[in-house]
Amino acid sequence: MIISDCHMHTTYSTDGRSDMESMINVSIEKGLKTICFTEHNDHGAGFFENGDFIVDTDAYFEGYRILSEKYRDKIEVLFGVEIGLMEKELDFFDRYVRDYPFDFVIGSSHTAGLWDPYYPEYYTRFEDTESAYRYYFESELKRAGVYDCYDSYGHLDYALRYGPGKNSCFTYEKFADILDPLLSTIIKSGKVIEINSSGYKAGMNGPNPAKSIIKRYHELGGLPPTIGSDAHETGYIAYEFEAVEQLLKEVGYDSYSIFRKRKREEIKM
Ligand SMILES: [Zn+2]
Ligand SMILES: [Zn+2]
Repeated sequence: MIISDCHMHTTYSTDGRSDMESMINVSIEKGLKTICFTEHNDHGAGFFENGDFIVDTDAYFEGYRILSEKYRDKIEVLFGVEIGLMEKELDFFDRYVRDYPFDFVIGSSHTAGLWDPYYPEYYTRFEDTESAYRYYFESELKRAGVYDCYDSYGHLDYALRYGPGKNSCFTYEKFADILDPLLSTIIKSGKVIEINSSGYKAGMNGPNPAKSIIKRYHELGGLPPTIGSDAHETGYIAYEFEAVEQLLKEVGYDSYSIFRKRKREEIKM
């Protein structure tokens, strides 16, 4: 069983819709034993239309401190962050993750180079959707090669949610020349990947990344992934976790990872 949800947002994030206390209460109702809040910090991206996606970390930590203490007998609440990896922000994030007592840092590519694959304009820069996705993965590879300040690489195939036709043009084989080095780089640097169950909600028919990527990650010797719903409201906490558990077992994992004080621990499913 999966009893930990290690990717959740609250109203401390620009796009969070439920407050922290509601998220904690529903997590307890759902029988979770550990949750980790991972508010957004996309410092340096600067161009999202719907806000800056930079958490007020002091306010977030203060809110976390009070509520994690209040509910400590009912659930373990961890303090995390989801940073938006960008080459030019390497030094900033290196310092940032050491300035606060984070348990867990998710490194996510919400951008490819300086562009945002969430918007349709991103795809007009490329000859076809496949090239647009290739550029996204290449950008992730560059970041995996230089970033050390994260623990788990978030939703590795995030762009596949947004291009024309979504993931219909995707097969692992088509992108193996870039995905193999990407996965190997993550593994060699001692990091893990995240299984993000919001892919089910986004119409992916599975989590992010896709099963074929998780399977290859396992073949290459990847340590057990972290698991998160990426819930931005109470209704999506632990979303489709039974399906994630089944998928992980099919691929060959019998445990998953969580991070406490930036140290990895394994939990049997
Ligand atoms: Zn994200
Ligand atoms: Zn997120």
